[in-house]
Amino acid sequence: MNELLELSAAAALRRIEAGELSADEYFEAHAAAAAGEELNAYLWRAEPGEARPAPDPEPGSGRGAGDLRGMPIAVKDLFCTEGIETTAGSRILEGYRPPYTATAVRRLGEAGARLLGKTNMDEFAMGSSTENSAYGPVLNPWDRARVPGGSSGGSAAAVAGRLAPWAIGTDTGGSIRQPASLCGIVGLKPTYGAISRYGMVAFASSLDQCGPLTRDVTDAALLLRAMQGRDRRDSTSVGIEAGVELPSREDLAGLRVGVARDFSHHAEGVEPGVAETFERALATIEELGGEVEEVELPHASHGISAYYVIAPAEASSNLARYDGVRYGLRVDGERGLVEMYERTRARGFGAEVKRRVMLGTYALSSGYYEAYYGRALRVRTRIAEDFARAFERCDLIVTPTSPSVAFELGARTADPLAMYLSDYFTVPMSLAGIPAISIPAGLATPPGGGPELPVGLQLTTPAFTESKLLDAAHALERAFAFEGAPR
Ligand code: GLN
Repeated sequence: MNELLELSAAAALRRIEAGELSADEYFEAHAAAAAGEELNAYLWRAEPGEARPAPDPEPGSGRGAGDLRGMPIAVKDLFCTEGIETTAGSRILEGYRPPYTATAVRRLGEAGARLLGKTNMDEFAMGSSTENSAYGPVLNPWDRARVPGGSSGGSAAAVAGRLAPWAIGTDTGGSIRQPASLCGIVGLKPTYGAISRYGMVAFASSLDQCGPLTRDVTDAALLLRAMQGRDRRDSTSVGIEAGVELPSREDLAGLRVGVARDFSHHAEGVEPGVAETFERALATIEELGGEVEEVELPHASHGISAYYVIAPAEASSNLARYDGVRYGLRVDGERGLVEMYERTRARGFGAEVKRRVMLGTYALSSGYYEAYYGRALRVRTRIAEDFARAFERCDLIVTPTSPSVAFELGARTADPLAMYLSDYFTVPMSLAGIPAISIPAGLATPPGGGPELPVGLQLTTPAFTESKLLDAAHALERAFAFEGAPR
Protein backbone atom coordinates (compact mmCIF):
# COMPACT_ATOMS: atom_id res chain seq x y z
CA MET A 1 0.00 0.00 0.00
CA ASN A 2 1.13 3.53 -0.76
CA GLU A 3 2.56 4.90 2.51
CA LEU A 4 0.88 8.27 1.85
CA LEU A 5 -2.47 6.59 2.56
CA GLU A 6 -1.35 5.98 6.14
CA LEU A 7 -0.87 9.67 6.94
CA SER A 8 -3.55 11.48 8.88
CA ALA A 9 -4.63 14.74 7.28
CA ALA A 10 -2.82 16.81 9.92
CA ALA A 11 0.38 14.82 9.33
CA ALA A 12 0.07 15.30 5.56
CA LEU A 13 -0.54 19.03 6.06
CA ARG A 14 2.65 19.32 8.10
CA ARG A 15 4.63 17.65 5.32
CA ILE A 16 3.03 19.81 2.67
CA GLU A 17 3.82 22.95 4.68
CA ALA A 18 7.42 21.80 5.06
CA GLY A 19 7.66 21.31 1.29
CA GLU A 20 8.24 17.55 1.66
CA LEU A 21 5.02 16.48 -0.01
CA SER A 22 2.98 17.87 -2.87
CA ALA A 23 -0.74 18.30 -2.28
CA ASP A 24 -1.44 16.91 -5.74
CA GLU A 25 0.58 13.78 -5.06
CA TYR A 26 -1.35 13.22 -1.83
CA PHE A 27 -4.66 13.76 -3.62
CA GLU A 28 -3.71 11.42 -6.46
CA ALA A 29 -2.71 8.63 -4.09
CA HIS A 30 -6.23 8.72 -2.64
CA ALA A 31 -7.96 9.12 -6.00
CA ALA A 32 -6.15 5.98 -7.20
CA ALA A 33 -7.09 4.08 -4.02
CA ALA A 34 -10.72 5.18 -4.34
CA ALA A 35 -10.80 4.15 -8.01
CA GLY A 36 -9.69 0.63 -7.09
CA GLU A 37 -11.83 0.21 -3.99
CA GLU A 38 -13.71 -3.00 -3.18
CA LEU A 39 -15.85 -1.83 -0.24
CA ASN A 40 -18.60 -0.07 -2.26
CA ALA A 41 -17.80 2.98 -0.13
CA TYR A 42 -18.09 5.49 -2.99
CA LEU A 43 -20.97 6.41 -5.26
CA TRP A 44 -18.96 9.05 -7.15
CA ARG A 45 -15.18 9.60 -7.30
CA ALA A 46 -12.90 12.27 -8.71
CA GLU A 47 -11.09 10.79 -11.72
CA PRO A 48 -7.40 10.20 -11.03
CA GLY A 49 -5.49 13.04 -12.65
CA GLU A 50 -8.48 15.36 -12.46
CA ALA A 51 -8.22 16.94 -9.05
CA ARG A 52 -10.55 19.92 -9.20
CA PRO A 53 -9.31 23.19 -7.83
CA ALA A 54 -10.87 24.28 -4.55
CA PRO A 55 -13.71 26.77 -5.16
CA ASP A 56 -13.10 30.45 -4.60
CA PRO A 57 -14.36 31.72 -1.25
CA GLU A 58 -17.70 33.49 -1.21
CA PRO A 59 -17.08 37.24 -1.43
CA GLY A 60 -17.19 38.85 2.00
CA SER A 61 -17.14 35.52 3.84
CA GLY A 62 -13.76 36.28 5.38
CA ARG A 63 -12.82 32.70 4.56
CA GLY A 64 -10.25 31.20 2.27
CA ALA A 65 -7.21 31.13 4.53
CA GLY A 66 -6.41 27.95 2.63
CA ASP A 67 -5.18 26.04 5.64
CA LEU A 68 -6.44 22.74 4.24
CA ARG A 69 -4.06 23.08 1.27
CA GLY A 70 -5.64 20.86 -1.35
CA MET A 71 -6.53 18.04 1.07
CA PRO A 72 -8.80 15.38 -0.45
CA ILE A 73 -12.12 14.95 1.35
CA ALA A 74 -14.84 12.32 1.03
CA VAL A 75 -18.38 13.63 1.45
CA LYS A 76 -21.50 11.64 2.30
CA ASP A 77 -23.86 11.60 -0.65
CA LEU A 78 -26.41 13.49 1.45
CA PHE A 79 -24.66 16.82 0.79
CA CYS A 80 -25.59 18.71 -2.35
CA THR A 81 -22.62 19.23 -4.65
CA GLU A 82 -23.11 21.52 -7.61
CA GLY A 83 -23.24 19.59 -10.88
CA ILE A 84 -22.32 16.29 -9.21
CA GLU A 85 -24.98 13.63 -8.74
CA THR A 86 -26.40 13.63 -5.20
CA THR A 87 -28.57 10.60 -4.45
CA ALA A 88 -28.91 10.38 -0.65
CA GLY A 89 -28.55 6.64 -1.27
CA SER A 90 -32.00 6.60 -2.93
CA ARG A 91 -33.31 5.61 -6.36
CA ILE A 92 -35.69 8.52 -6.18
CA LEU A 93 -32.78 10.97 -6.53
CA GLU A 94 -30.90 9.00 -9.17
CA GLY A 95 -29.50 11.46 -11.69
CA TYR A 96 -30.20 14.53 -9.54
CA ARG A 97 -27.48 17.14 -10.07
CA PRO A 98 -27.96 19.96 -7.58
CA PRO A 99 -27.57 23.54 -8.80
CA TYR A 100 -25.68 24.50 -5.62
CA THR A 101 -23.27 23.16 -2.98
CA ALA A 102 -24.07 22.59 0.70
CA THR A 103 -22.57 25.22 3.02
CA ALA A 104 -20.47 22.68 4.95
CA VAL A 105 -18.87 21.40 1.75
CA ARG A 106 -18.46 24.90 0.37
CA ARG A 107 -16.64 25.99 3.53
CA LEU A 108 -14.26 23.06 3.32
CA GLY A 109 -13.57 24.10 -0.26
CA GLU A 110 -13.01 27.69 0.80
CA ALA A 111 -10.47 26.41 3.32
CA GLY A 112 -8.65 24.65 0.49
CA ALA A 113 -10.03 21.08 0.57
CA ARG A 114 -10.88 19.29 -2.69
CA LEU A 115 -13.69 16.83 -3.28
CA LEU A 116 -12.37 13.27 -3.56
CA GLY A 117 -15.67 11.45 -3.70
CA LYS A 118 -19.27 11.09 -2.57
CA THR A 119 -19.84 8.22 -0.18
CA ASN A 120 -22.48 5.52 -0.02
CA MET A 121 -25.06 5.63 2.77
CA ASP A 122 -28.35 4.28 4.03
CA GLU A 123 -31.20 5.71 1.98
CA PHE A 124 -32.01 9.20 3.32
CA ALA A 125 -29.71 8.38 6.27
CA MET A 126 -32.22 5.89 7.69
CA GLY A 127 -30.31 2.96 9.08
CA SER A 128 -27.43 1.69 11.18
CA SER A 129 -25.65 -0.60 8.74
CA THR A 130 -25.62 1.02 5.28
CA GLU A 131 -27.59 -2.00 4.05
CA ASN A 132 -30.51 0.31 3.22
CA SER A 133 -28.62 1.95 0.36
CA ALA A 134 -30.30 1.56 -3.04
CA TYR A 135 -26.77 1.11 -4.40
CA GLY A 136 -25.79 -1.97 -2.41
CA PRO A 137 -24.26 -2.36 1.05
CA VAL A 138 -20.85 -1.06 2.12
CA LEU A 139 -18.39 -3.60 3.52
CA ASN A 140 -16.43 -3.12 6.73
CA PRO A 141 -12.68 -2.99 5.95
CA TRP A 142 -11.92 -4.93 9.16
CA ASP A 143 -14.04 -7.87 8.01
CA ARG A 144 -15.81 -7.74 4.67
CA ALA A 145 -18.53 -10.09 5.86
CA ARG A 146 -19.61 -7.38 8.31
CA VAL A 147 -21.35 -4.01 8.10
CA PRO A 148 -19.51 -0.71 8.62
CA GLY A 149 -22.42 0.69 10.64
CA GLY A 150 -24.60 3.48 9.33
CA SER A 151 -25.95 5.58 8.00
CA SER A 152 -22.58 7.25 7.18
CA GLY A 153 -21.10 3.80 6.50
CA GLY A 154 -19.45 4.80 3.23
CA SER A 155 -17.61 7.68 4.87
CA ALA A 156 -16.50 5.50 7.81
CA ALA A 157 -15.35 2.60 5.60
CA ALA A 158 -13.49 4.99 3.27
CA VAL A 159 -11.53 6.53 6.16
CA ALA A 160 -10.84 3.23 7.96
CA GLY A 161 -10.04 1.47 4.66
CA ARG A 162 -7.45 4.11 3.64
CA LEU A 163 -9.57 5.31 0.72
CA ALA A 164 -9.74 8.86 2.10
CA PRO A 165 -7.75 10.66 4.80
CA TRP A 166 -10.99 12.00 6.28
CA ALA A 167 -14.64 12.43 5.49
CA ILE A 168 -17.81 14.16 6.54
CA GLY A 169 -21.13 12.56 7.35
CA THR A 170 -24.37 13.39 9.11
CA ASP A 171 -25.77 12.22 12.41
CA THR A 172 -29.47 12.27 13.27
CA GLY A 173 -29.44 9.62 15.99
CA GLY A 174 -25.95 8.17 15.74
CA SER A 175 -25.03 7.98 12.07
CA ILE A 176 -21.54 9.43 12.52
CA ARG A 177 -20.66 7.98 15.92
CA GLN A 178 -21.89 4.41 15.44
CA PRO A 179 -20.12 3.75 12.09
CA ALA A 180 -16.99 5.41 13.49
CA SER A 181 -17.16 2.95 16.40
CA LEU A 182 -17.69 -0.07 14.14
CA CYS A 183 -14.83 0.96 11.83
CA GLY A 184 -12.28 1.97 14.48
CA ILE A 185 -12.10 5.69 13.69
CA VAL A 186 -13.11 9.01 15.29
CA GLY A 187 -16.61 10.42 14.66
CA LEU A 188 -17.91 13.71 16.03
CA LYS A 189 -21.50 14.93 16.16
CA PRO A 190 -21.30 18.62 17.01
CA THR A 191 -23.88 20.60 18.98
CA TYR A 192 -27.12 21.08 17.03
CA GLY A 193 -26.68 24.39 15.22
CA ALA A 194 -22.87 24.37 15.17
CA ILE A 195 -22.72 23.69 11.42
CA SER A 196 -25.16 24.85 8.75
CA ARG A 197 -27.60 22.26 7.40
CA TYR A 198 -28.07 24.22 4.17
CA GLY A 199 -27.76 21.84 1.25
CA MET A 200 -27.94 18.71 3.39
CA VAL A 201 -30.79 16.49 2.19
CA ALA A 202 -33.19 16.63 5.14
CA PHE A 203 -34.15 13.57 7.18
CA ALA A 204 -35.30 14.86 10.60
CA SER A 205 -34.51 18.56 10.66
CA SER A 206 -34.56 19.07 14.43
CA LEU A 207 -31.90 16.36 14.83
CA ASP A 208 -29.74 16.33 11.66
CA GLN A 209 -26.20 17.59 12.15
CA CYS A 210 -23.11 17.38 9.98
CA GLY A 211 -19.75 16.28 11.38
CA PRO A 212 -16.33 14.76 10.69
CA LEU A 213 -15.17 11.13 10.48
CA THR A 214 -11.40 11.03 10.87
CA ARG A 215 -8.36 8.97 11.85
CA ASP A 216 -7.76 11.04 14.97
CA VAL A 217 -9.16 13.77 17.21
CA THR A 218 -6.92 16.52 15.82
CA ASP A 219 -8.24 15.92 12.31
CA ALA A 220 -11.81 16.10 13.66
CA ALA A 221 -11.03 19.50 15.22
CA LEU A 222 -9.56 20.76 11.93
CA LEU A 223 -12.69 19.86 9.98
CA LEU A 224 -15.04 21.20 12.64
CA ARG A 225 -13.14 24.48 12.70
CA ALA A 226 -13.41 24.85 8.94
CA MET A 227 -17.13 24.01 8.75
CA GLN A 228 -18.72 25.53 11.84
CA GLY A 229 -20.29 28.96 12.00
CA ARG A 230 -23.49 30.82 11.39
CA ASP A 231 -24.96 30.69 7.91
CA ARG A 232 -27.68 33.07 6.82
CA ARG A 233 -29.15 30.26 4.70
CA ASP A 234 -29.91 28.11 7.77
CA SER A 235 -31.74 29.96 10.51
CA THR A 236 -30.97 27.18 13.03
CA SER A 237 -27.22 27.58 12.56
CA VAL A 238 -25.52 29.64 15.22
CA GLY A 239 -21.93 28.41 15.13
CA ILE A 240 -19.64 27.86 18.10
CA GLU A 241 -19.13 31.34 19.45
CA ALA A 242 -15.97 30.49 21.36
CA GLY A 243 -14.42 28.96 18.23
CA VAL A 244 -12.69 25.58 18.07
CA GLU A 245 -9.26 25.10 19.62
CA LEU A 246 -7.01 22.35 18.35
CA PRO A 247 -6.81 19.78 21.16
CA SER A 248 -3.61 19.48 23.16
CA ARG A 249 -4.57 17.99 26.50
CA GLU A 250 -2.69 14.91 27.66
CA ASP A 251 -4.38 14.16 30.98
CA LEU A 252 -7.79 14.40 32.61
CA ALA A 253 -6.61 15.86 35.92
CA GLY A 254 -9.42 17.59 37.79
CA LEU A 255 -12.12 16.43 35.36
CA ARG A 256 -15.22 14.76 36.77
CA VAL A 257 -16.31 12.02 34.39
CA GLY A 258 -19.90 10.86 34.74
CA VAL A 259 -21.07 7.29 34.22
CA ALA A 260 -24.77 6.43 34.38
CA ARG A 261 -25.43 2.91 35.54
CA ASP A 262 -28.28 2.04 33.15
CA PHE A 263 -26.48 3.77 30.41
CA SER A 264 -23.10 2.10 30.56
CA HIS A 265 -21.61 -1.38 30.22
CA HIS A 266 -24.30 -2.60 32.65
CA ALA A 267 -27.12 -1.87 30.19
CA GLU A 268 -28.99 -4.83 28.75
CA GLY A 269 -27.72 -6.17 25.45
CA VAL A 270 -24.16 -4.85 25.69
CA GLU A 271 -21.77 -7.47 24.30
CA PRO A 272 -19.18 -8.78 26.79
CA GLY A 273 -16.27 -7.56 24.64
CA VAL A 274 -17.76 -4.06 24.56
CA ALA A 275 -18.38 -4.10 28.33
CA GLU A 276 -14.79 -5.17 29.06
CA THR A 277 -13.36 -2.50 26.78
CA PHE A 278 -15.54 0.11 28.48
CA GLU A 279 -14.39 -1.01 31.91
CA ARG A 280 -10.76 -0.75 30.83
CA ALA A 281 -11.50 2.74 29.49
CA LEU A 282 -12.82 3.77 32.92
CA ALA A 283 -9.56 2.56 34.47
CA THR A 284 -7.60 4.60 31.91
CA ILE A 285 -9.69 7.68 32.76
CA GLU A 286 -8.67 7.30 36.40
CA GLU A 287 -5.02 6.74 35.51
CA LEU A 288 -5.14 10.03 33.60
CA GLY A 289 -6.36 11.81 36.73
CA GLY A 290 -10.09 11.90 35.93
CA GLU A 291 -12.57 11.26 38.74
CA VAL A 292 -15.24 8.77 37.74
CA GLU A 293 -18.58 9.76 39.29
CA GLU A 294 -21.92 8.00 39.13
CA VAL A 295 -24.62 10.18 37.55
CA GLU A 296 -28.29 9.59 36.78
CA LEU A 297 -29.86 9.75 33.33
CA PRO A 298 -33.26 8.32 34.25
CA HIS A 299 -34.96 8.97 30.90
CA ALA A 300 -32.12 8.12 28.52
CA SER A 301 -33.33 4.55 28.12
CA HIS A 302 -36.54 5.93 26.58
CA GLY A 303 -34.54 7.76 23.92
CA ILE A 304 -35.06 5.13 21.22
CA SER A 305 -38.85 5.13 21.73
CA ALA A 306 -39.08 8.91 21.49
CA TYR A 307 -36.66 9.06 18.57
CA TYR A 308 -38.63 6.53 16.51
CA VAL A 309 -41.69 8.77 16.77
CA ILE A 310 -39.99 12.16 16.28
CA ALA A 311 -37.57 11.25 13.48
CA PRO A 312 -40.15 9.44 11.29
CA ALA A 313 -42.67 12.25 11.92
CA GLU A 314 -40.22 14.84 10.61
CA ALA A 315 -39.12 12.52 7.80
CA SER A 316 -42.67 11.95 6.60
CA SER A 317 -43.01 15.69 6.17
CA ASN A 318 -39.53 16.28 4.68
CA LEU A 319 -39.87 13.46 2.16
CA ALA A 320 -43.21 14.72 0.84
CA ARG A 321 -41.19 16.83 -1.62
CA TYR A 322 -40.16 13.75 -3.65
CA ASP A 323 -43.16 13.62 -5.91
CA GLY A 324 -41.67 13.04 -9.36
CA VAL A 325 -42.13 16.68 -10.29
CA ARG A 326 -39.14 18.47 -8.86
CA TYR A 327 -36.28 15.98 -8.53
CA GLY A 328 -34.82 12.81 -9.97
CA LEU A 329 -37.07 9.87 -10.78
CA ARG A 330 -40.53 10.15 -12.38
CA VAL A 331 -42.71 7.15 -13.17
CA ASP A 332 -45.71 8.17 -15.28
CA GLY A 333 -49.06 6.40 -15.22
CA GLU A 334 -52.11 6.53 -17.49
CA ARG A 335 -54.38 8.09 -14.90
CA GLY A 336 -52.88 11.48 -14.23
CA LEU A 337 -51.00 13.25 -11.51
CA VAL A 338 -51.90 11.28 -8.41
CA GLU A 339 -50.99 8.01 -10.06
CA MET A 340 -47.66 9.51 -11.12
CA TYR A 341 -46.96 10.50 -7.48
CA GLU A 342 -47.85 7.04 -6.27
CA ARG A 343 -45.83 5.17 -8.85
CA THR A 344 -42.81 7.42 -8.42
CA ARG A 345 -42.79 7.01 -4.65
CA ALA A 346 -43.54 3.28 -4.81
CA ARG A 347 -40.62 2.68 -7.17
CA GLY A 348 -38.26 5.34 -5.83
CA PHE A 349 -38.30 4.66 -2.08
CA GLY A 350 -36.91 1.55 -0.41
CA ALA A 351 -38.64 -0.49 2.30
CA GLU A 352 -37.15 1.31 5.31
CA VAL A 353 -38.04 4.74 3.95
CA LYS A 354 -41.62 3.62 3.31
CA ARG A 355 -41.82 2.21 6.83
CA ARG A 356 -40.69 5.55 8.30
CA VAL A 357 -43.07 7.59 6.15
CA MET A 358 -45.97 5.42 7.30
CA LEU A 359 -44.91 5.51 10.96
CA GLY A 360 -44.46 9.26 10.84
CA THR A 361 -47.70 9.99 9.03
CA TYR A 362 -49.56 7.82 11.52
CA ALA A 363 -47.94 9.49 14.53
CA LEU A 364 -48.91 12.93 13.21
CA SER A 365 -52.46 12.04 12.23
CA SER A 366 -55.27 13.83 14.02
CA GLY A 367 -56.43 11.93 17.08
CA TYR A 368 -53.00 10.35 17.59
CA TYR A 369 -50.82 13.44 17.42
CA GLU A 370 -50.93 14.15 21.16
CA ALA A 371 -50.67 10.50 22.17
CA TYR A 372 -47.52 9.86 20.14
CA TYR A 373 -45.78 12.97 18.87
CA GLY A 374 -46.70 15.20 21.83
CA ARG A 375 -45.55 12.58 24.32
CA ALA A 376 -42.34 11.89 22.46
CA LEU A 377 -41.53 15.60 22.61
CA ARG A 378 -42.05 15.58 26.38
CA VAL A 379 -39.68 12.62 26.73
CA ARG A 380 -37.19 14.56 24.63
CA THR A 381 -37.37 17.49 27.07
CA ARG A 382 -36.86 15.15 30.04
CA ILE A 383 -33.78 13.66 28.43
CA ALA A 384 -32.31 17.13 27.85
CA GLU A 385 -33.07 18.02 31.49
CA ASP A 386 -31.37 14.80 32.67
CA PHE A 387 -28.18 15.82 30.90
CA ALA A 388 -28.35 19.38 32.23
CA ARG A 389 -28.71 18.05 35.78
CA ALA A 390 -25.93 15.50 35.32
CA PHE A 391 -23.58 18.21 34.02
CA GLU A 392 -23.98 20.05 37.34
CA ARG A 393 -22.10 17.13 38.88
CA CYS A 394 -19.61 16.27 36.14
CA ASP A 395 -17.72 17.80 33.23
CA LEU A 396 -18.35 15.04 30.75
CA ILE A 397 -20.21 11.76 30.49
CA VAL A 398 -18.90 8.58 28.91
CA THR A 399 -20.80 5.59 27.49
CA PRO A 400 -20.04 2.81 25.06
CA THR A 401 -20.84 4.15 21.55
CA SER A 402 -22.56 0.99 20.36
CA PRO A 403 -23.76 -2.06 22.30
CA SER A 404 -22.01 -4.29 19.78
CA VAL A 405 -19.02 -4.55 17.51
CA ALA A 406 -19.63 -4.67 13.73
CA PHE A 407 -22.28 -7.30 13.00
CA GLU A 408 -22.51 -9.59 10.01
CA LEU A 409 -24.20 -8.41 6.82
CA GLY A 410 -27.85 -9.43 6.95
CA ALA A 411 -27.82 -10.14 10.71
CA ARG A 412 -30.36 -7.43 11.58
CA THR A 413 -32.08 -6.63 8.29
CA ALA A 414 -35.10 -8.83 9.02
CA ASP A 415 -35.67 -7.28 12.44
CA PRO A 416 -36.03 -3.48 12.41
CA LEU A 417 -36.27 -3.29 16.20
CA ALA A 418 -32.92 -5.06 16.65
CA MET A 419 -31.43 -2.63 14.12
CA TYR A 420 -32.92 0.38 15.96
CA LEU A 421 -31.26 -0.72 19.22
CA SER A 422 -27.86 -0.11 17.59
CA ASP A 423 -28.44 3.55 18.47
CA TYR A 424 -29.35 3.03 22.12
CA PHE A 425 -26.35 5.03 23.37
CA THR A 426 -26.22 7.69 20.68
CA VAL A 427 -29.84 8.83 20.31
CA PRO A 428 -30.19 10.67 23.67
CA MET A 429 -27.44 13.20 22.82
CA SER A 430 -29.14 13.87 19.49
CA LEU A 431 -32.45 14.48 21.24
CA ALA A 432 -30.72 16.81 23.71
CA GLY A 433 -28.78 18.59 20.93
CA ILE A 434 -25.44 18.21 22.74
CA PRO A 435 -22.07 17.31 21.17
CA ALA A 436 -20.70 13.78 21.37
CA ILE A 437 -17.66 12.03 19.97
CA SER A 438 -16.73 8.39 19.48
CA ILE A 439 -13.09 7.41 19.67
CA PRO A 440 -11.64 3.92 19.24
CA ALA A 441 -10.98 2.46 22.70
CA GLY A 442 -9.71 -0.98 21.81
CA LEU A 443 -10.46 -4.26 20.09
CA ALA A 444 -12.78 -7.05 21.17
CA THR A 445 -13.65 -10.53 19.95
CA PRO A 446 -17.16 -10.66 18.46
CA PRO A 447 -19.69 -12.90 20.28
CA GLY A 448 -19.48 -15.73 17.74
CA GLY A 449 -15.65 -15.68 17.76
CA GLY A 450 -13.34 -14.57 14.97
CA PRO A 451 -10.80 -11.79 14.56
CA GLU A 452 -11.00 -8.85 16.96
CA LEU A 453 -13.00 -5.77 15.96
CA PRO A 454 -12.94 -2.11 17.07
CA VAL A 455 -14.93 -0.80 20.03
CA GLY A 456 -15.73 2.88 20.44
CA LEU A 457 -16.00 5.03 23.56
CA GLN A 458 -18.49 7.91 23.46
CA LEU A 459 -17.85 11.18 25.31
CA THR A 460 -20.40 13.96 25.63
CA THR A 461 -20.33 17.48 27.11
CA PRO A 462 -22.74 20.46 27.34
CA ALA A 463 -23.81 22.32 24.20
CA PHE A 464 -21.12 24.36 22.42
CA THR A 465 -18.22 23.05 24.53
CA GLU A 466 -16.64 21.18 21.63
CA SER A 467 -13.13 22.39 22.49
CA LYS A 468 -13.38 20.75 25.93
CA LEU A 469 -14.84 17.60 24.44
CA LEU A 470 -12.05 17.35 21.88
CA ASP A 471 -9.42 18.00 24.53
CA ALA A 472 -10.65 15.14 26.73
CA ALA A 473 -10.92 12.86 23.70
CA HIS A 474 -7.37 13.79 22.71
CA ALA A 475 -6.00 12.84 26.13
CA LEU A 476 -7.78 9.48 26.01
CA GLU A 477 -6.76 8.84 22.42
CA ARG A 478 -3.12 9.15 23.42
CA ALA A 479 -3.58 6.81 26.35
CA PHE A 480 -5.48 4.18 24.32
CA ALA A 481 -2.82 4.26 21.57
CA PHE A 482 -5.25 2.40 19.31
CA GLU A 483 -3.65 0.65 16.34
CA GLY A 484 -6.05 2.03 13.80
CA ALA A 485 -5.49 -0.17 10.77
CA PRO A 486 -7.60 -3.02 9.50
CA ARG A 487 -5.41 -5.85 8.14
N1 GLN B 1 -29.84 4.65 12.83
C1 GLN B 1 -30.69 5.77 13.13
C2 GLN B 1 -31.86 5.76 12.18
O1 GLN B 1 -31.98 4.85 11.45
C3 GLN B 1 -29.92 7.03 13.05
C4 GLN B 1 -29.66 7.43 11.65
C5 GLN B 1 -28.94 8.74 11.57
O2 GLN B 1 -28.34 9.21 12.52
N2 GLN B 1 -29.05 9.35 10.40
O3 GLN B 1 -32.65 6.65 12.15
